[in-house]
Amino acid sequence: MTDWSKLSDAHGTAEGVPALLERFEADPAGVWSELIDRLCPQLDTAFSASFAALPRLAEIAAGREPAERHWVLFAAGPIVSSARRSAEGAAARETYSSAIADLARLTGACLRLPLDREDYVGLLQTALAFEGVEVWDECLDNLAQGEYEVECPYCGVNLFIVLGDDGFFACSDDYALRDVEKTPLRPADPSELAGLARRLHDQALADGQPVVARRLSYLFGHTSCTDCGTGFPVADRVLAQAMPTR
Ligand SMILES: [Zn+2]
Repeated sequence: MTDWSKLSDAHGTAEGVPALLERFEADPAGVWSELIDRLCPQLDTAFSASFAALPRLAEIAAGREPAERHWVLFAAGPIVSSARRSAEGAAARETYSSAIADLARLTGACLRLPLDREDYVGLLQTALAFEGVEVWDECLDNLAQGEYEVECPYCGVNLFIVLGDDGFFACSDDYALRDVEKTPLRPADPSELAGLARRLHDQALADGQPVVARRLSYLFGHTSCTDCGTGFPVADRVLAQAMPTR
């Protein structure tokens, strides 16, 4: 049995976590914020009690139909992503690997449902969290709103990468303004995508999400800087932004 009094969460001792998980099981949507506040504040910090909660979260997710499960997965995903930020978290990924594998399987079943774009991209990101895919497990969901911020690899200017209802372009100014200079994004040819990019694109198509698949082809495509003209692969700059040491 887990001795919760020896574990900690964002508030200190984790003695209250089992009761919180009980309430979360009864009402995931209503209790999600409170749970995240204690177990994964800012969606990027996890504690010993957060990891210890993973088997219970997998159990709660398994107890719900796929269509009723996403709040539970949206709680577990950030905890698993945050695990890489500490040695304790890295060890926890091993300790709780079977719960994480269950969460991955339970997420997979949700992706095939008819979902709105935001939920679909959120769940796809969550699936990457359980697989251990860095960076995209925390920022793939920008695809739903259709905006990333990156730095030009040459001149360092901040660029908005816009892939959405307003078009597909890069610009260094607020693109809501008129007369802003924009450079087009050039999508990757899906048949030439490889690795994770190919898998995500093909999965979105197979899951009946052609808009997401199209945005992915632009995310894994190219553009150039509005200020200095340097061309670059968009996804590489998103990765560089998230992992500045690269
Ligand atoms: Zn530049």
